[in-house]
Amino acid sequence: MDKTVRTRFAPSPTGRMHVGNLRTALYAYLIAKHAGGQFLLRIEDTDQERYVEGAVDIIYRTMAGTGLIHDEGPDKDGGYGPYVQSERQAAGIYLKYAKELIEKGEAYYCFCTRERLETLTTVVNGKEVSMYDKHCLSLSKEEVEAKLAAGEPYVIRQNIPREGTTTFHDEIYGDITVPNEELDDMILIKSDGYPTYNFANVVDDHLMGITHVVRGNEYLSSSPKYTRLYAAFGWEEPVYVHCPLITDENHQKLSKRSGHASYEDLIEQGFVTEAVVNYVALLGWSPEDNTEIMSLPELVAAFDYRKINKSPAVFDIQKLRWMNGEYIKMMDPEAYYERALPVVESVVKKPLDKKAIADLMKTRIEVFPDIAPAIDFFEELPDYDVGMYTHKKMKTNTENSLTALRELLPRLEALADCSKDALSALIAAYVEEKGIKNGQALWPLRTAVSGKQMTPGGAYEIMEILGRDESLRRIRIGIDKLEHAME
Ligand code: GLU
Repeated sequence: MDKTVRTRFAPSPTGRMHVGNLRTALYAYLIAKHAGGQFLLRIEDTDQERYVEGAVDIIYRTMAGTGLIHDEGPDKDGGYGPYVQSERQAAGIYLKYAKELIEKGEAYYCFCTRERLETLTTVVNGKEVSMYDKHCLSLSKEEVEAKLAAGEPYVIRQNIPREGTTTFHDEIYGDITVPNEELDDMILIKSDGYPTYNFANVVDDHLMGITHVVRGNEYLSSSPKYTRLYAAFGWEEPVYVHCPLITDENHQKLSKRSGHASYEDLIEQGFVTEAVVNYVALLGWSPEDNTEIMSLPELVAAFDYRKINKSPAVFDIQKLRWMNGEYIKMMDPEAYYERALPVVESVVKKPLDKKAIADLMKTRIEVFPDIAPAIDFFEELPDYDVGMYTHKKMKTNTENSLTALRELLPRLEALADCSKDALSALIAAYVEEKGIKNGQALWPLRTAVSGKQMTPGGAYEIMEILGRDESLRRIRIGIDKLEHAME
């Protein structure tokens, strides 16, 4: 029987959730759930210098918000804990395994000072690189013990032979072989006693039973060293899935500078979680039938990591905006109001029906902030140009617009309620009587009540929201403007 698929998301608490990290989390989640397996959360906090206060909360919030619910993690023990690397370090896990490698001759203590290390450069493939020269490998056991006893600061390094090659397999990039002389004797345990990522990821992934390792392709070049560690321990290697780079529209690595590199940025800019998750899934992967709008369960069903593309994925904010608009159209009313009403209320202070205004916008926006500039006329009639009454297709001009508004005014004044139905009956009777086109009444009317060329909804919807008195006031202003223009 095949092993249960177990994947992990292993973020470092360094700030906001970069879109690349969200994709890693999502792919790891999809691989596990597609196979009916488990998805773990592991906090990689061993780099004390990069640690940012509050970043762990961001991780929890983002995962809960996006629906990438982990089966095991610091807050959900599944028997493979602790799930926080600093706690694992405190429990002595990494040192124990580093010592095991020393016993096997696969690692060694190194006491070299920073000054000495800075002088070390080696030529590999004609290029000068800084590589450790195995100086401390020649220390005798007694020398090492004496230095340890004297409390000399040390690191533990991996011992990689200079000859031969190392090959590992990645599901996306295929077999990769590197000459061992290119592999540095990397540090496994730092002088502060903490493990490096390079060591901790191997130990933890093994001890946590991880079957598929999903991460960014910046880890590809170090992976041969991990392969050597697995071999040194005699552990089975996981399946590697290294994801392609995500770039901005200019084909540069997607960075903070773009202004939308993190999940939190996107939510603040008015994007909907489901749309972001959907879009991020498509950064480097697409289903066989090229469907684009997919819910999380649909992604789980369709996802196949073997089909991930190795060429860089371009983060196209316009495409995401389009997708977001599709998700907004599908939102249920309450969820929609929760995001839309604050924007409406920031623009419209008058006691109008804010939900009705929000309803007008639901099918017309890509992100929530799009609402603001489209509804400002509800708050205040803009000082518009009278030329707007002239519309070729509607067959309107200053003169017939003025006639229409003048004739409509008393009829509207006589109207008891300003509902869409009442307005539509009134206009139908009017155009019938005058033998004119609908547009010849509706265009002047909408222009008068909105002062805008483009509005969400037509004259009826706008007037229903503005109410009878305000609509009449605006129509009178329109008549005034048109009269002036006729002089
Ligand atoms: N802590 C690493 C990071 O945030 C995790 C890489 C991995 O998934 O192995 O980049």
